[in-house]
Amino acid sequence: MKSGWVDSGARAAIDRYARNGVAPDLALRVYTTRLLGRDPKLVLHGGGNTSVKTTMSDLLGEKVAVLCVKGSGSDMATVEPADLPAVRLDRLRKLRTRAALSDEEMVRIQRESLLEPTAPNPSVETLLHAFLPHKFVDHTHASAILSIADQPDGEVICAELYNGRVGIVPYVMPGFLLAKAAAEIYDAKPVVEGLILHKHGIFSFGDSAREAYERMIALVVLAEERLQKKRKAVFVTTHLPQAIAPVAAVAPILRGACSRKNERIEGAWRRMILEFRTGPAILNFANGAQLARYGQAGVVTPAAPPQRDRTDDFKRALRAAVTAFVQRYEAYFARQNARVGGIKRPLDPLPRVALVPGLGLFGLGRSKKDARIAADLAQCALEIITDAEAIGRFESISEDEMFDMEYWSLEQAKLGAATEKPLAGQIAVITGAGGTIGAATAKAFAAAGAEVALLDVDQPAAEEKAKAIGATALAVKCDVTSPVSDRAGA
Ligand SMILES: [Zn+2]
Repeated sequence: MKSGWVDSGARAAIDRYARNGVAPDLALRVYTTRLLGRDPKLVLHGGGNTSVKTTMSDLLGEKVAVLCVKGSGSDMATVEPADLPAVRLDRLRKLRTRAALSDEEMVRIQRESLLEPTAPNPSVETLLHAFLPHKFVDHTHASAILSIADQPDGEVICAELYNGRVGIVPYVMPGFLLAKAAAEIYDAKPVVEGLILHKHGIFSFGDSAREAYERMIALVVLAEERLQKKRKAVFVTTHLPQAIAPVAAVAPILRGACSRKNERIEGAWRRMILEFRTGPAILNFANGAQLARYGQAGVVTPAAPPQRDRTDDFKRALRAAVTAFVQRYEAYFARQNARVGGIKRPLDPLPRVALVPGLGLFGLGRSKKDARIAADLAQCALEIITDAEAIGRFESISEDEMFDMEYWSLEQAKLGAATEKPLAGQIAVITGAGGTIGAATAKAFAAAGAEVALLDVDQPAAEEKAKAIGATALAVKCDVTSPVSDRAGA
């Protein structure tokens, strides 16, 4: 990993935003946030956040000290100044003297302290940014840091590697208590360039945007170099799964195994969309002799048993794997919900990732977009686990800690708020979709929530129409009068 800082790029950001009345502090904050956000080895799908401390005018025209911190729901790779809402810094800092603060109360106070009442919610890690004194604070979930920290002795490994350059914060769930713990560790040794949050990620900070950003890169590079030393071979397979069925044969079986009757609509099914990924690293992981151990750790679940020659055997094995996963998940929910007093609402127990030895991994979701996110996160987790196992033994947070994250009260509050479109999870195949009627049909299905495949003998026409519908619409060259072409298209 290398620094992406370019002086001319930073100046261009300052000039570009100055035209909209954005001050250099915030322009540079946007510039390095995007540098961090474009690297999937640092942040993925909305993870990570950044901040800058500066002064701004409030709605009455009075100058106030503020923290501009990434709001929830925006992506660091494409962040804009409006995605970093300004929060009154003195009000945030006053909270440090409290002994406790619920997540709901924290969110309310953060919103009340916004300069712009319609701004997005500041990140749940806002207080951690506010309690640190530095002008620029950067936070990522860098893969290399997680590989060295997600170990039984992760804190010792980090302490040795960084030799006093960073503070090590034991695992605490994000929120007020983590912010307080991190600030105390910083205060005890204010010369550090950053903080490693065990089994979570890393913070770096500095007086300038460049200093905070380049410290992040330097600290991550040290972890990357450590991962190249004293590596052992991982996931050695005793016998390779044979008789690999093509992905086109496996995918419908998996999709069927993960479908459920829709209780609300007679005769309707709730289905999932699949995203397939494969490659040497994924196969090495999925084929490993101890997959049941490391594959179940963290988010990567469930493993399907090795494939057989006969489709029926495979079908049965895959259905059994999904059923076993759902049963395990329901038992986990019941056990954990009892621990917290039975107040949580269960989430969908179906798997979001399936590993098929000899084939690869599937991400599953209620839309193509969600399936891709699931596959991206699984691929990232798989790389983190592989590197962790190469230098030691991967160990994620405990089951209790995992449940507390998964069933976070702020996330639970969102449940049921979003309404799904009627055809979510369904796939519509439209023939002759390069033409006007076909294209209009595809558009109507997509608008109702279905993922659409546009078939036509005229490939460019199908592609053009698919592009007009959106990034997940698929164009396929297909002559429906020919059975061979039909299969090739599938
Ligand atoms: Zn974080």
